[in-house]
Amino acid sequence: MARRSSVDVFCPSCRWEPTNVAFWGCTCGCRWNTFATAGVCPRCRRRWPDTQCPVCHVLSPHEEWYHRLAGLVADLLNGH
Ligand SMILES: [Zn+2]
Ligand SMILES: [Zn+2]
Repeated sequence: MARRSSVDVFCPSCRWEPTNVAFWGCTCGCRWNTFATAGVCPRCRRRWPDTQCPVCHVLSPHEEWYHRLAGLVADLLNGH
């Protein structure tokens, strides 16, 4: 059983998986982990629709970092 219950989060370009590092910076000067708030700055509440990968530097829409649905499909395919 390799099924995961949590959402898989990784870069859609290079598949880097975010840790809890506060890599992302807002124009208000705040630095935080954008995946802890789904792309919303905790200080000024600005929503950032795109998230840049610190490894490959590709800017991708925030929701494209979440891969739970793709993982569920893969589990179904592997289970049959
Ligand atoms: Zn990347
Ligand atoms: Zn901010």
